[in-house]
Amino acid sequence: MQMTVRSVLDPARDEVLTEVADATPEEVDRAIETAHSAFNGGAWARMPPEERGAVLERCAQVIRDHADDLALIDSKNVGKPIAQANGDAEGAAEFFAVAARHVATLSNEAVDASATQVTLIVREPVGVVAGILPWNYPVAIAAATLAPALAAGNSVVLKPSPETPLSAQRLGSLLAELLPAGVVQVVAGGADVGRQLTRHRLVSRIHFTGSTRAGEEVMTSAARGFKRIGLELGDKSTTMVFADAPLEDAAASAVRRFTANQGENCVAGSRLLVQDSIYDDFIARVVKHAESLVSGNPQHPDTDIGPMITRQHLAKVSDLIDSARRDSSALFEGDLPTDSPYDNGYFAPVAIFESPSTSRIWREEVFGPVLAVASFTDDADAIAQANDTAYGLMAHIWSQDRARAIRVSRGVRSGMIRVNNGVESAAGPWGGFGASGIGRSLGKYGIDANSELKQICLDIS
Ligand code: NAD
Repeated sequence: MQMTVRSVLDPARDEVLTEVADATPEEVDRAIETAHSAFNGGAWARMPPEERGAVLERCAQVIRDHADDLALIDSKNVGKPIAQANGDAEGAAEFFAVAARHVATLSNEAVDASATQVTLIVREPVGVVAGILPWNYPVAIAAATLAPALAAGNSVVLKPSPETPLSAQRLGSLLAELLPAGVVQVVAGGADVGRQLTRHRLVSRIHFTGSTRAGEEVMTSAARGFKRIGLELGDKSTTMVFADAPLEDAAASAVRRFTANQGENCVAGSRLLVQDSIYDDFIARVVKHAESLVSGNPQHPDTDIGPMITRQHLAKVSDLIDSARRDSSALFEGDLPTDSPYDNGYFAPVAIFESPSTSRIWREEVFGPVLAVASFTDDADAIAQANDTAYGLMAHIWSQDRARAIRVSRGVRSGMIRVNNGVESAAGPWGGFGASGIGRSLGKYGIDANSELKQICLDIS
Protein backbone atom coordinates (compact mmCIF):
# COMPACT_ATOMS: atom_id res chain seq x y z
CA MET A 1 0.00 0.00 0.00
CA GLN A 2 1.13 3.55 -0.82
CA MET A 3 2.24 5.53 2.22
CA THR A 4 1.37 9.25 2.42
CA VAL A 5 4.31 11.31 3.66
CA ARG A 6 3.73 15.02 4.27
CA SER A 7 6.21 17.85 4.53
CA VAL A 8 5.74 19.78 7.75
CA LEU A 9 6.55 23.43 7.05
CA ASP A 10 7.89 26.56 8.67
CA PRO A 11 5.42 29.02 7.08
CA ALA A 12 7.47 32.11 8.01
CA ARG A 13 10.39 30.96 5.85
CA ASP A 14 8.65 28.58 3.41
CA GLU A 15 10.99 25.80 4.55
CA VAL A 16 10.47 22.12 5.32
CA LEU A 17 10.97 21.37 9.03
CA THR A 18 10.57 17.61 8.72
CA GLU A 19 8.42 14.93 7.10
CA VAL A 20 5.71 12.93 8.81
CA ALA A 21 3.95 9.85 7.44
CA ASP A 22 0.18 9.55 7.79
CA ALA A 23 -0.92 6.61 9.91
CA THR A 24 -2.16 3.82 7.65
CA PRO A 25 -5.73 2.52 8.19
CA GLU A 26 -4.20 -0.53 9.91
CA GLU A 27 -2.17 1.69 12.23
CA VAL A 28 -5.26 3.74 13.09
CA ASP A 29 -7.20 0.53 13.87
CA ARG A 30 -4.32 -0.66 16.02
CA ALA A 31 -4.15 2.63 17.95
CA ILE A 32 -7.89 2.49 18.68
CA GLU A 33 -7.72 -1.19 19.68
CA THR A 34 -4.73 -0.49 21.96
CA ALA A 35 -6.57 2.43 23.58
CA HIS A 36 -9.64 0.21 23.99
CA SER A 37 -7.62 -2.61 25.60
CA ALA A 38 -5.98 -0.08 27.93
CA PHE A 39 -9.45 1.18 28.85
CA ASN A 40 -10.77 -2.33 29.52
CA GLY A 41 -7.62 -3.22 31.46
CA GLY A 42 -8.75 -0.59 33.98
CA ALA A 43 -5.32 0.60 35.14
CA TRP A 44 -6.41 4.16 34.32
CA ALA A 45 -10.20 3.94 34.10
CA ARG A 46 -10.56 2.39 37.55
CA MET A 47 -7.69 4.20 39.25
CA PRO A 48 -9.02 6.00 42.36
CA PRO A 49 -9.72 9.65 41.45
CA GLU A 50 -7.17 11.04 43.93
CA GLU A 51 -4.42 8.95 42.33
CA ARG A 52 -5.57 9.90 38.84
CA GLY A 53 -5.48 13.54 39.95
CA ALA A 54 -1.89 13.11 41.18
CA VAL A 55 -0.84 11.65 37.81
CA LEU A 56 -2.54 14.54 35.98
CA GLU A 57 -0.66 17.01 38.18
CA ARG A 58 2.58 15.25 37.17
CA CYS A 59 1.46 15.65 33.53
CA ALA A 60 1.02 19.39 34.17
CA GLN A 61 4.52 19.54 35.64
CA VAL A 62 6.14 17.70 32.73
CA ILE A 63 4.51 20.19 30.34
CA ARG A 64 5.88 23.09 32.46
CA ASP A 65 9.32 21.42 32.41
CA HIS A 66 9.22 21.18 28.59
CA ALA A 67 7.29 24.39 27.93
CA ASP A 68 10.16 26.11 26.07
CA ASP A 69 10.60 23.14 23.78
CA LEU A 70 6.85 22.78 23.07
CA ALA A 71 6.51 26.53 22.49
CA LEU A 72 9.40 26.60 20.03
CA ILE A 73 7.91 23.68 18.06
CA ASP A 74 4.59 25.52 17.67
CA SER A 75 6.24 28.87 16.99
CA LYS A 76 8.20 27.35 14.09
CA ASN A 77 5.44 25.14 12.76
CA VAL A 78 2.50 27.57 13.04
CA GLY A 79 4.53 30.76 12.60
CA LYS A 80 3.17 31.84 15.99
CA PRO A 81 4.99 34.71 17.74
CA ILE A 82 7.15 33.09 20.41
CA ALA A 83 5.68 35.09 23.32
CA GLN A 84 2.23 33.77 22.37
CA ALA A 85 3.58 30.23 21.92
CA ASN A 86 5.02 30.40 25.45
CA GLY A 87 1.57 31.40 26.70
CA ASP A 88 0.03 28.43 24.89
CA ALA A 89 2.44 25.97 26.53
CA GLU A 90 1.74 27.46 29.96
CA GLY A 91 -1.99 27.20 29.19
CA ALA A 92 -1.56 23.53 28.23
CA ALA A 93 -0.04 22.82 31.67
CA GLU A 94 -2.87 24.75 33.32
CA PHE A 95 -5.54 22.60 31.61
CA PHE A 96 -3.96 19.51 33.22
CA ALA A 97 -3.59 21.25 36.59
CA VAL A 98 -7.27 22.25 36.57
CA ALA A 99 -8.33 18.72 35.58
CA ALA A 100 -6.14 17.34 38.39
CA ARG A 101 -7.82 19.60 40.95
CA HIS A 102 -11.32 18.69 39.81
CA VAL A 103 -10.89 14.96 39.49
CA ALA A 104 -9.81 14.65 43.08
CA THR A 105 -13.01 16.33 44.28
CA LEU A 106 -15.58 14.77 41.91
CA SER A 107 -17.99 12.90 44.08
CA ASN A 108 -20.58 10.29 43.45
CA GLU A 109 -23.96 10.98 45.06
CA ALA A 110 -26.82 9.19 46.73
CA VAL A 111 -30.42 10.31 46.22
CA ASP A 112 -33.74 8.74 47.16
CA ALA A 113 -32.40 7.65 50.53
CA SER A 114 -35.79 6.41 51.75
CA ALA A 115 -36.62 3.57 54.08
CA THR A 116 -36.90 1.20 51.11
CA GLN A 117 -34.39 2.39 48.51
CA VAL A 118 -31.07 4.14 48.06
CA THR A 119 -30.09 5.37 44.60
CA LEU A 120 -26.39 5.81 43.98
CA ILE A 121 -25.33 8.07 41.14
CA VAL A 122 -21.89 7.18 39.87
CA ARG A 123 -19.73 8.50 37.05
CA GLU A 124 -18.26 6.22 34.44
CA PRO A 125 -15.80 7.10 31.71
CA VAL A 126 -17.23 6.83 28.19
CA GLY A 127 -14.41 4.63 26.80
CA VAL A 128 -12.16 5.58 23.89
CA VAL A 129 -12.27 9.29 23.00
CA ALA A 130 -11.06 10.42 19.58
CA GLY A 131 -9.57 13.92 19.83
CA ILE A 132 -9.33 15.70 16.46
CA LEU A 133 -7.31 18.91 16.44
CA PRO A 134 -6.89 22.05 14.29
CA TRP A 135 -3.56 23.70 13.46
CA ASN A 136 -3.90 27.10 15.12
CA TYR A 137 -3.20 26.24 18.79
CA PRO A 138 -1.64 22.77 18.49
CA VAL A 139 -0.27 22.10 21.97
CA ALA A 140 -2.91 24.10 23.83
CA ILE A 141 -5.85 22.37 22.13
CA ALA A 142 -4.16 18.97 22.43
CA ALA A 143 -4.02 19.55 26.20
CA ALA A 144 -7.55 21.02 26.35
CA THR A 145 -8.81 17.86 24.63
CA LEU A 146 -6.72 15.39 26.62
CA ALA A 147 -6.98 16.74 30.17
CA PRO A 148 -10.76 16.47 30.77
CA ALA A 149 -11.04 13.21 28.80
CA LEU A 150 -8.23 11.63 30.85
CA ALA A 151 -9.57 13.07 34.10
CA ALA A 152 -12.83 11.20 33.51
CA GLY A 153 -10.86 7.95 33.10
CA ASN A 154 -10.99 7.57 29.32
CA SER A 155 -8.34 6.48 26.85
CA VAL A 156 -7.66 8.96 24.04
CA VAL A 157 -6.57 8.65 20.42
CA LEU A 158 -5.42 12.09 19.34
CA LYS A 159 -5.19 13.20 15.72
CA PRO A 160 -3.40 16.51 15.26
CA SER A 161 -3.79 18.57 12.12
CA PRO A 162 -1.62 17.34 9.22
CA GLU A 163 -0.07 20.84 9.09
CA THR A 164 1.02 20.80 12.75
CA PRO A 165 1.56 17.28 14.12
CA LEU A 166 4.86 17.91 15.94
CA SER A 167 3.91 19.31 19.35
CA ALA A 168 1.09 16.77 19.84
CA GLN A 169 3.54 13.97 19.04
CA ARG A 170 6.02 15.39 21.54
CA LEU A 171 3.29 15.84 24.15
CA GLY A 172 2.08 12.26 23.53
CA SER A 173 5.54 10.84 24.19
CA LEU A 174 5.99 12.96 27.34
CA LEU A 175 2.62 11.80 28.72
CA ALA A 176 3.23 8.16 27.77
CA GLU A 177 6.00 8.10 30.42
CA LEU A 178 3.47 9.01 33.11
CA LEU A 179 0.26 7.23 32.07
CA PRO A 180 -0.48 3.49 31.90
CA ALA A 181 0.51 1.96 28.54
CA GLY A 182 -1.88 2.62 25.65
CA VAL A 183 -4.02 5.26 27.39
CA VAL A 184 -2.86 8.04 25.03
CA GLN A 185 -2.10 7.37 21.36
CA VAL A 186 -1.25 9.99 18.74
CA VAL A 187 -1.94 9.22 15.07
CA ALA A 188 -0.82 11.48 12.23
CA GLY A 189 -2.89 12.18 9.15
CA GLY A 190 -5.51 14.30 7.46
CA ALA A 191 -9.29 14.24 7.10
CA ASP A 192 -9.29 10.56 6.05
CA VAL A 193 -7.69 9.51 9.31
CA GLY A 194 -10.16 11.80 11.11
CA ARG A 195 -13.06 10.11 9.32
CA GLN A 196 -11.78 6.67 10.23
CA LEU A 197 -11.71 7.71 13.89
CA THR A 198 -15.24 9.14 13.79
CA ARG A 199 -16.61 5.94 12.21
CA HIS A 200 -14.79 3.36 14.30
CA ARG A 201 -17.08 1.14 16.41
CA LEU A 202 -14.66 1.17 19.37
CA VAL A 203 -14.66 4.98 19.61
CA SER A 204 -17.33 6.12 22.08
CA ARG A 205 -16.80 9.88 21.98
CA ILE A 206 -15.41 12.39 19.51
CA HIS A 207 -14.00 15.69 20.66
CA PHE A 208 -13.53 17.72 17.50
CA THR A 209 -12.01 21.20 17.23
CA GLY A 210 -12.00 22.69 13.76
CA SER A 211 -14.11 24.28 11.07
CA THR A 212 -17.90 24.41 11.19
CA ARG A 213 -18.02 22.69 7.79
CA ALA A 214 -16.01 19.66 8.99
CA GLY A 215 -17.91 19.74 12.31
CA GLU A 216 -21.16 19.04 10.46
CA GLU A 217 -19.60 15.99 8.83
CA VAL A 218 -18.27 14.78 12.18
CA MET A 219 -21.71 15.18 13.76
CA THR A 220 -23.34 13.21 10.94
CA SER A 221 -20.76 10.47 11.27
CA ALA A 222 -21.18 10.36 15.06
CA ALA A 223 -24.91 9.72 14.68
CA ARG A 224 -24.10 6.21 13.47
CA GLY A 225 -23.26 4.34 16.63
CA PHE A 226 -24.60 7.13 18.89
CA LYS A 227 -21.14 8.45 19.67
CA ARG A 228 -20.97 11.24 22.20
CA ILE A 229 -19.63 14.45 20.71
CA GLY A 230 -18.08 17.74 21.63
CA LEU A 231 -17.70 20.23 18.78
CA GLU A 232 -15.54 23.35 19.11
CA LEU A 233 -16.03 25.19 15.83
CA GLY A 234 -15.66 28.58 14.19
CA ASP A 235 -16.80 32.06 15.19
CA LYS A 236 -17.24 35.63 14.02
CA SER A 237 -16.78 37.18 17.41
CA THR A 238 -17.66 40.78 18.13
CA THR A 239 -16.03 43.42 20.28
CA MET A 240 -18.54 46.10 21.38
CA VAL A 241 -17.17 49.40 22.63
CA PHE A 242 -19.59 51.73 24.45
CA ALA A 243 -19.04 55.47 24.79
CA ASP A 244 -18.26 55.13 28.51
CA ALA A 245 -15.45 52.59 27.94
CA PRO A 246 -11.81 53.25 28.90
CA LEU A 247 -11.01 53.98 25.26
CA GLU A 248 -7.25 53.54 25.21
CA ASP A 249 -7.38 50.13 26.94
CA ALA A 250 -10.26 49.06 24.71
CA ALA A 251 -8.43 50.09 21.52
CA ALA A 252 -5.22 48.28 22.52
CA SER A 253 -7.22 45.18 23.42
CA ALA A 254 -9.31 45.24 20.22
CA VAL A 255 -6.09 45.26 18.17
CA ARG A 256 -4.45 42.52 20.27
CA ARG A 257 -7.55 40.38 19.81
CA PHE A 258 -7.89 40.49 16.04
CA THR A 259 -4.15 40.08 15.53
CA ALA A 260 -3.39 37.44 18.21
CA ASN A 261 -2.00 34.37 16.47
CA GLN A 262 -2.16 36.61 13.32
CA GLY A 263 -5.94 36.36 13.47
CA GLU A 264 -5.87 32.56 13.12
CA ASN A 265 -7.88 32.41 16.26
CA CYS A 266 -11.37 31.02 16.88
CA VAL A 267 -12.13 33.93 19.25
CA ALA A 268 -10.43 36.57 17.11
CA GLY A 269 -12.78 39.50 17.71
CA SER A 270 -12.81 40.07 13.96
CA ARG A 271 -15.87 42.36 14.10
CA LEU A 272 -15.66 45.65 15.98
CA LEU A 273 -18.81 47.58 16.87
CA VAL A 274 -18.26 51.11 18.18
CA GLN A 275 -20.92 53.42 19.64
CA ASP A 276 -21.55 56.20 17.12
CA SER A 277 -20.73 59.12 19.49
CA ILE A 278 -17.08 57.95 19.91
CA TYR A 279 -16.64 56.28 16.53
CA ASP A 280 -14.06 58.58 14.89
CA ASP A 281 -11.99 58.99 18.05
CA PHE A 282 -11.96 55.26 18.75
CA ILE A 283 -11.11 54.19 15.20
CA ALA A 284 -8.17 56.64 15.18
CA ARG A 285 -6.87 54.94 18.34
CA VAL A 286 -7.32 51.47 16.83
CA VAL A 287 -5.43 52.48 13.68
CA LYS A 288 -2.62 53.95 15.79
CA HIS A 289 -2.19 50.65 17.65
CA ALA A 290 -2.35 48.66 14.38
CA GLU A 291 0.38 50.87 12.87
CA SER A 292 2.81 49.86 15.62
CA LEU A 293 2.56 46.11 14.92
CA VAL A 294 5.66 44.29 13.69
CA SER A 295 5.37 41.41 11.18
CA GLY A 296 8.19 38.98 10.57
CA ASN A 297 10.33 36.44 12.41
CA PRO A 298 8.01 34.60 14.84
CA GLN A 299 10.95 33.57 17.00
CA HIS A 300 11.94 37.20 17.65
CA PRO A 301 10.47 38.35 20.99
CA ASP A 302 9.31 41.71 19.52
CA THR A 303 7.35 40.21 16.63
CA ASP A 304 3.56 40.65 16.80
CA ILE A 305 2.42 39.05 13.54
CA GLY A 306 3.54 35.79 11.98
CA PRO A 307 2.58 34.19 8.65
CA MET A 308 -0.58 32.39 7.61
CA ILE A 309 -0.34 28.64 8.09
CA THR A 310 -0.16 27.65 4.39
CA ARG A 311 -0.04 29.24 0.95
CA GLN A 312 -3.62 28.00 0.38
CA HIS A 313 -4.82 29.68 3.55
CA LEU A 314 -3.03 32.90 2.57
CA ALA A 315 -4.88 32.74 -0.78
CA LYS A 316 -8.21 32.42 1.07
CA VAL A 317 -7.42 35.38 3.34
CA SER A 318 -6.19 37.44 0.35
CA ASP A 319 -9.42 36.68 -1.50
CA LEU A 320 -11.44 38.01 1.46
CA ILE A 321 -9.24 41.12 1.65
CA ASP A 322 -9.81 41.67 -2.10
CA SER A 323 -13.56 41.37 -1.57
CA ALA A 324 -13.32 43.95 1.23
CA ARG A 325 -11.36 46.31 -1.02
CA ARG A 326 -14.36 46.18 -3.38
CA ASP A 327 -17.27 46.50 -0.94
CA SER A 328 -15.84 48.21 2.17
CA SER A 329 -13.74 51.30 2.99
CA ALA A 330 -10.12 50.57 3.90
CA LEU A 331 -9.12 52.27 7.18
CA PHE A 332 -5.66 50.70 7.41
CA GLU A 333 -3.47 48.22 5.53
CA GLY A 334 -0.08 47.25 6.96
CA ASP A 335 3.17 46.27 5.28
CA LEU A 336 4.51 42.78 4.64
CA PRO A 337 8.01 41.78 5.75
CA THR A 338 10.54 42.46 3.01
CA ASP A 339 13.68 41.08 4.66
CA SER A 340 14.93 37.64 3.65
CA PRO A 341 13.99 34.86 4.41
CA TYR A 342 10.60 36.20 5.58
CA ASP A 343 9.86 37.67 2.16
CA ASN A 344 9.15 34.02 1.20
CA GLY A 345 6.76 33.50 4.11
CA TYR A 346 2.98 33.37 3.79
CA PHE A 347 2.30 36.76 5.38
CA ALA A 348 -1.03 38.60 5.08
CA PRO A 349 -1.25 42.34 5.78
CA VAL A 350 -2.91 43.62 8.94
CA ALA A 351 -6.04 45.26 7.53
CA ILE A 352 -9.01 47.20 8.90
CA PHE A 353 -12.16 47.89 6.89
CA GLU A 354 -15.33 49.81 7.62
CA SER A 355 -17.76 47.20 6.38
CA PRO A 356 -21.45 46.91 5.60
CA SER A 357 -23.22 44.06 7.39
CA THR A 358 -23.79 42.33 4.05
CA SER A 359 -20.07 42.14 3.20
CA ARG A 360 -18.20 38.84 3.26
CA ILE A 361 -15.58 40.33 5.58
CA TRP A 362 -18.33 41.14 8.11
CA ARG A 363 -20.00 37.74 7.87
CA GLU A 364 -17.31 35.12 7.21
CA GLU A 365 -14.62 33.83 9.52
CA VAL A 366 -11.44 35.26 7.92
CA PHE A 367 -8.81 33.58 10.12
CA GLY A 368 -6.29 36.30 9.28
CA PRO A 369 -5.26 39.68 10.79
CA VAL A 370 -8.29 41.47 9.38
CA LEU A 371 -10.85 43.57 11.24
CA ALA A 372 -14.31 44.64 10.04
CA VAL A 373 -15.70 47.75 11.75
CA ALA A 374 -19.19 49.29 12.04
CA SER A 375 -21.04 51.59 14.44
CA PHE A 376 -24.07 51.09 16.70
CA THR A 377 -26.50 53.48 18.36
CA ASP A 378 -27.57 51.93 21.68
CA ASP A 379 -27.57 48.70 23.71
CA ALA A 380 -30.37 47.10 21.70
CA ASP A 381 -28.66 47.90 18.40
CA ALA A 382 -25.32 46.51 19.66
CA ILE A 383 -26.99 43.28 20.76
CA ALA A 384 -28.93 42.93 17.50
CA GLN A 385 -25.81 43.45 15.36
CA ALA A 386 -23.68 41.13 17.52
CA ASN A 387 -26.34 38.41 17.22
CA ASP A 388 -26.64 38.77 13.44
CA THR A 389 -24.45 35.72 12.79
CA ALA A 390 -24.85 31.95 12.83
CA TYR A 391 -21.89 31.70 15.24
CA GLY A 392 -21.72 32.37 18.98
CA LEU A 393 -18.42 31.53 20.65
CA MET A 394 -17.06 34.75 22.15
CA ALA A 395 -18.06 38.39 22.50
CA HIS A 396 -16.26 41.24 24.21
CA ILE A 397 -17.94 44.23 25.87
CA TRP A 398 -16.15 47.41 26.86
CA SER A 399 -18.10 49.68 29.25
CA GLN A 400 -17.51 51.17 32.69
CA ASP A 401 -21.18 50.56 33.50
CA ARG A 402 -21.25 47.07 35.03
CA ALA A 403 -25.06 46.84 34.94
CA ARG A 404 -25.04 47.59 31.21
CA ALA A 405 -22.25 45.08 30.67
CA ILE A 406 -24.31 42.37 32.38
CA ARG A 407 -27.51 43.34 30.51
CA VAL A 408 -25.75 43.26 27.15
CA SER A 409 -23.95 40.02 28.09
CA ARG A 410 -27.31 38.40 28.79
CA GLY A 411 -28.62 39.54 25.42
CA VAL A 412 -25.71 38.34 23.30
CA ARG A 413 -26.01 34.72 22.17
CA SER A 414 -22.46 33.65 22.85
CA GLY A 415 -20.88 30.96 25.03
CA MET A 416 -18.22 33.27 26.44
CA ILE A 417 -18.24 37.01 27.09
CA ARG A 418 -15.27 39.09 28.14
CA VAL A 419 -16.02 42.36 29.93
CA ASN A 420 -13.22 44.96 29.83
CA ASN A 421 -9.99 43.20 30.83
CA GLY A 422 -11.76 39.97 31.84
CA VAL A 423 -10.43 36.73 30.31
CA GLU A 424 -12.11 33.32 30.28
CA SER A 425 -11.03 30.90 33.01
CA ALA A 426 -9.19 27.63 32.33
CA ALA A 427 -11.70 26.09 34.76
CA GLY A 428 -14.78 27.59 33.09
CA PRO A 429 -17.01 26.08 30.37
CA TRP A 430 -15.43 26.63 26.94
CA GLY A 431 -17.79 26.38 23.98
CA GLY A 432 -20.30 28.19 21.84
CA PHE A 433 -23.86 28.73 20.69
CA GLY A 434 -25.18 27.83 17.23
CA ALA A 435 -22.62 27.10 14.51
CA SER A 436 -19.78 27.54 17.03
CA GLY A 437 -20.35 24.02 18.31
CA ILE A 438 -21.97 21.63 20.72
CA GLY A 439 -21.15 21.12 24.38
CA ARG A 440 -18.70 22.70 26.78
CA SER A 441 -15.15 21.61 27.49
CA LEU A 442 -12.57 22.39 30.20
CA GLY A 443 -12.78 22.25 33.98
CA LYS A 444 -15.52 20.18 35.56
CA TYR A 445 -17.77 20.84 32.55
CA GLY A 446 -15.26 19.07 30.31
CA ILE A 447 -15.03 16.15 32.73
CA ASP A 448 -18.86 15.91 32.75
CA ALA A 449 -18.88 15.89 28.94
CA ASN A 450 -16.42 12.99 28.98
CA SER A 451 -18.41 10.97 31.54
CA GLU A 452 -21.57 8.89 31.59
CA LEU A 453 -23.78 9.14 34.68
CA LYS A 454 -25.25 5.91 35.98
CA GLN A 455 -27.82 5.35 38.71
CA ILE A 456 -27.64 2.18 40.79
CA CYS A 457 -30.90 1.57 42.63
CA LEU A 458 -30.66 -0.49 45.80
CA ASP A 459 -33.70 -2.03 47.38
CA ILE A 460 -32.99 -1.86 51.09
CA SER A 461 -36.42 -2.93 52.36
P1 NAD B 1 -10.52 21.77 9.76
O1 NAD B 1 -11.96 21.54 10.05
O2 NAD B 1 -10.10 21.87 8.37
O3 NAD B 1 -9.65 20.58 10.38
C1 NAD B 1 -9.65 20.28 11.77
C2 NAD B 1 -9.22 18.85 11.98
O4 NAD B 1 -10.24 17.99 11.49
C3 NAD B 1 -7.95 18.45 11.26
O5 NAD B 1 -7.22 17.57 12.09
C4 NAD B 1 -8.47 17.74 10.01
O6 NAD B 1 -7.55 16.80 9.49
C5 NAD B 1 -9.71 17.05 10.56
N1 NAD B 1 -10.81 16.81 9.65
C6 NAD B 1 -11.18 17.56 8.58
N2 NAD B 1 -12.31 17.06 8.03
C7 NAD B 1 -12.67 16.01 8.80
C8 NAD B 1 -13.77 15.09 8.77
N3 NAD B 1 -14.72 15.17 7.83
N4 NAD B 1 -13.84 14.13 9.71
C9 NAD B 1 -12.90 14.04 10.66
N5 NAD B 1 -11.83 14.86 10.75
C10 NAD B 1 -11.72 15.84 9.83
O7 NAD B 1 -10.10 23.05 10.62
P2 NAD B 1 -8.69 23.82 10.66
O8 NAD B 1 -8.53 24.59 9.40
O9 NAD B 1 -7.61 22.87 11.08
O10 NAD B 1 -8.93 24.80 11.90
C11 NAD B 1 -9.49 26.07 11.79
C12 NAD B 1 -10.91 26.07 12.33
O11 NAD B 1 -10.92 25.61 13.67
C13 NAD B 1 -11.51 27.47 12.38
O12 NAD B 1 -12.83 27.44 11.89
C14 NAD B 1 -11.52 27.80 13.88
O13 NAD B 1 -12.49 28.72 14.29
C15 NAD B 1 -11.72 26.45 14.48
N6 NAD B 1 -11.26 26.44 15.86
C16 NAD B 1 -12.19 26.44 16.86
C17 NAD B 1 -11.78 26.46 18.19
C18 NAD B 1 -12.79 26.47 19.31
O14 NAD B 1 -12.38 26.33 20.45
N7 NAD B 1 -14.07 26.62 19.02
C19 NAD B 1 -10.42 26.48 18.49
C20 NAD B 1 -9.50 26.49 17.43
C21 NAD B 1 -9.93 26.45 16.12
